[in-house]
Amino acid sequence: MVATGSGTKSGKAFYVTTPIYYVNDAPHLGHAYTTVAGDVLTRWHRQRGERVWFLTGTDEHGQKVLRTAESKGVSPQEWCDKLVEEAWKPLWQHLEIANDDFIRTTEKRHTDRVREFVQDLYDKGEIYKGGYEGPYCVGCEEYKLPGELLEGTGENAGKQLCPIHKRPVEILKEENYFFRLSEYADKLLAHYEANPGFIQPESARNEVLSFVRQGLQDLSISRSTFDWGVPVPWDDDHVIYVWVDALLNYATAVGYNQNQETFDASFPADVHLLGKDILRFHAVIWPALLMANGLPLPGRIVANGWLLVGGEKMSKSNLTGISPRQITSHFGVDAFRWYLLRAIAYGQDGSFSWEDLAARYTSELANDYGNLASRVAAMVGKYFDGVLPDASADGDAEQAVHDGLARAVAEADRKIGDDVEFQAGLLAIFEFIKQVNGYISEQEPWKVAKDDSPEARARLATILYTAAESLRAVAVLLHPFMPASSQKLWESLGAEPALGPLADQRVQEAGQWGRLPAGSTVTKGAALFPRLEEQPGA
Ligand SMILES: [Zn+2]
Repeated sequence: MVATGSGTKSGKAFYVTTPIYYVNDAPHLGHAYTTVAGDVLTRWHRQRGERVWFLTGTDEHGQKVLRTAESKGVSPQEWCDKLVEEAWKPLWQHLEIANDDFIRTTEKRHTDRVREFVQDLYDKGEIYKGGYEGPYCVGCEEYKLPGELLEGTGENAGKQLCPIHKRPVEILKEENYFFRLSEYADKLLAHYEANPGFIQPESARNEVLSFVRQGLQDLSISRSTFDWGVPVPWDDDHVIYVWVDALLNYATAVGYNQNQETFDASFPADVHLLGKDILRFHAVIWPALLMANGLPLPGRIVANGWLLVGGEKMSKSNLTGISPRQITSHFGVDAFRWYLLRAIAYGQDGSFSWEDLAARYTSELANDYGNLASRVAAMVGKYFDGVLPDASADGDAEQAVHDGLARAVAEADRKIGDDVEFQAGLLAIFEFIKQVNGYISEQEPWKVAKDDSPEARARLATILYTAAESLRAVAVLLHPFMPASSQKLWESLGAEPALGPLADQRVQEAGQWGRLPAGSTVTKGAALFPRLEEQPGA
C-alpha cells in the first residue's frame, strides 16, 4: 500500500493475526478453524468501512521441523518451501481466506528484525547467560515445570510425560541465554487487572492469572543443541528459541525496525487469535517481551477451545484429523466456514461432527435460508416477470420485519464485530431469516396472487418487496461467513447495478430499510445450497 501523504493519516488499521503455524505437516481442521475465524472477523470489520490488516503465516524453525525434515531426507528449508507452497497457501486460497500478508519466519525481513529485537534486549540487560537443566518436551519446544508432568503408564511406565503430548519428556541441560521473565509477573498482573478484556474467554483469563500469580521463571531464549533457527547476534553457537522467533512475526510482518510508517499504521494487533494450547506464550511471554523493549501491547488475546472430532482432539500435536478438503468437497467451502463458527461457541471446546454438519446444512442452510431465497425469486418471476415491485401497502406485519432486521444487525454487529462471538452473531442473523420465513407463511402471497384487484396486487407487491429487501440485508450480513453464496444471492436480487459490489456494502447500511430499489431485475439462479444427495460424492 502506498502512503497517502502527510495530513491524511487515517489512523491505525484493525490488525488481526492467526498464530503462525508450524509447518511440520499439512494444515488440518484446527488450523482452518482459527484462520476462518480471523477471516470472518476481518471481513466484518472491512464491511464496517474500517481499514484492516489480516496476517497469517508459518513458523518454520525449531527442532521439531528439523527432525521432520531429516526423517523425510530433505533440508529443513526445502521441507518448509514445499509444504508452504503445496499445502498451506493453496488451502487458504481454497477456503477464501483474504489475508493481507503471509509471513514465513525463514524470510530475511523477519530474521534480520528478530536479531535486532533480541540484540536490543541484550543491550538493555534483559538477557543474561545461565545454565539450566530440566524436563523438555520437543513437541512443545518448551521446558516443563516438574509439577505439571504426568506419570507414564504402560510402555511409558516409570517415565514422566508432557501433559499436552502425553509423550516422555527429555532431560535437557543447556548453557543458554535467559530473558528476565520473572521480573515481569507483577507488571503483567497489573496489565491483566487494568484490562479485563485482554484475555478472552474468561476461562483462559483465569488460567493465565493463576499461572502468573505463582510467579514466573526466567525464560531460556536460546538453544545450542541444533542450528535450525535464527542465530543469536552476539553468539553464533546459539539459535534463538523458536517461540521468541515466532511471536516476533506479529511485529516484523508490519515493518518493525524497518518501516516506521507501516508499523505505526498497524502495530500492535487489536486481536491475536489462537488455540488455547498456545495461550501462555501469547498472554505471558509476548507481552513481557514487548514491555521489555518498550513496545505497546496488543488489544486482545482470544483463545479458541479444543476442536473434538469423534472424541479426539484436533490440535497441532494430533495429526490424525480429517483434512478440510474432505469436508469442503462434500459440503462446499461456504458451509464449511459457516459450520465451524455456527456449531461451536468461540472460545469453548466443541465437537465437529459430519452428521451434525449434514443435519444443520439441510435444516438451516438449504431449508431455512436457501429455500427462502429461491422461493422469493421464483414468486417475483412468476407474479411480476422478474421485476421487483414496490412496497406501497406496508402495515404492522411489515413493520415487524423492519424492526426484526434492525435488531439482527445491531446484535450481529455487537457480537461479531465487538465481542468476537461468531455463534451468537450468526444466531441473530438466522433468527431474522426464520422471521422472514414466518412472515411469508402468514401472508400467503400465493393466495393473494389469485385476486386481481388493485388492492391485492399492492399487497402482493409489498410482501415480495419485503422478503426481497430482507434478503438483500442477509446477503450483506452473511458475506463475511459465506462469500460465494452471498454473492450469488446478491446477483439473484439484481442488487449490484443499484448498490454496487457486495464487498463494498457497509454493515451499518444493512439495517437501513428500503435500499434495494424497486425495478431491480430478480432472477432465480441455481440453489444457494443444493440438497446433499444431489452433490457429487454424496
Ligand atoms: Zn508437549
